[in-house]
Amino acid sequence: MQDIRPMTEKLYYHDATLTGFTARVVARRETERGPAVQLDRTAFYPTSGGQPHDTGTLAGVPVLDVWEDEAGAIWHLLERPLNAAEVTGQIDVARRFDHMQQHTGQHLLSEAFVQARAAATVGFHLGTEASTIDVTADDLTWDAAFAVEDAVNAVIWENRPVTLHFVTEAELGDIPLRKPPAVSGVIRVVWVAGYDASACGGTHVALTGEIGLLKITGLERYKGGTRVTFLCGGRALRDYRRALHTLREVSAGLSVGQDELPAAIGRLQDETKSTLQALRKTRGALTELEAERLWADAIEVDGARRIAAHWDDRPFEEARAIASQLRERPRALLLLATTEDDALRLVCARSDDLPAPHAAEVLRAATQAFGGRGGGSPTLAQGGAQARPHAEIMQVLKTALQSA
Ligand SMILES: [Zn+2]
Repeated sequence: MQDIRPMTEKLYYHDATLTGFTARVVARRETERGPAVQLDRTAFYPTSGGQPHDTGTLAGVPVLDVWEDEAGAIWHLLERPLNAAEVTGQIDVARRFDHMQQHTGQHLLSEAFVQARAAATVGFHLGTEASTIDVTADDLTWDAAFAVEDAVNAVIWENRPVTLHFVTEAELGDIPLRKPPAVSGVIRVVWVAGYDASACGGTHVALTGEIGLLKITGLERYKGGTRVTFLCGGRALRDYRRALHTLREVSAGLSVGQDELPAAIGRLQDETKSTLQALRKTRGALTELEAERLWADAIEVDGARRIAAHWDDRPFEEARAIASQLRERPRALLLLATTEDDALRLVCARSDDLPAPHAAEVLRAATQAFGGRGGGSPTLAQGGAQARPHAEIMQVLKTALQSA
């Protein structure tokens, strides 16, 4: 069976798997995205009705996009120019078959929503990862969605024929179409035996069994109805494989069976919460002790206790915590620094009862020696610079404090 769409007669193509077709180039044009050709007939499906275009080759040249213009002509965007007048066309069969599975699955899903919920489909999108339909049901629960899913899969497994019928508008009266056609003239009706009839120009499987499986993967409120996300055939299998793999990894990582995962994660969250609380408490006690030790070791010069310290691989937040505890004490002048991920950060502070020096000026004396920068108020300043060896940093901090 030839699956081609003669341009001149405006007939329609069948959806059988393709082995290739021959055609004549009847027009060429240069677009912003590259050269494009029009053929006397084509098996390439143009983007329309919520379904993306086919890809493939014409005379070995990759076809990147296919679209229908206002006049009804189908254009094939090419990766590079094509000079031949007669070409052999080959569509990407894997991509086409995937689209056939998703699209025919959509027909069944839309009809199942009509039968189960009297809900009409008002939107369809066939995406690269998943597809969606928008249905006029605003109270859809997962249990209701599972019932619809079961009905669809029953029809898939009954392996019903999917056939095409070309009928005139006059003949349409005898056919129970799911919704009125959007086009006039000869209407292409896709008939799922004994189940669903729709006017549609897309590509479909020949037997419902080829869809394999339909799985609803998402429900979200959308414009007063529900947006239903679903996967068919190979996509459903790949998603199941991915989900199982993730589940196995998590289950092995936590050393519990898959059914015990929710409880195990709950326990982990509780543990993390109490561990963090304990850690915060311990860190608080530790910074108090360190402040106490720095204070005791400090030498008083000109009426101020001058305190310099630097820590490698320590969060700057902790240096700031020590600084704020020290400046609560009388007559303290301190310059503290941490190195974390190759960055040196400094804080300079002085007690409120000290009239001088200006904290930002002391800080700048140190950061300038490192080629960095910083600033702040007379009593509190912060800055940063490139990391240096510990001994060099301590030398600069002490000099800045002594000359203040
Ligand atoms: Zn269709």
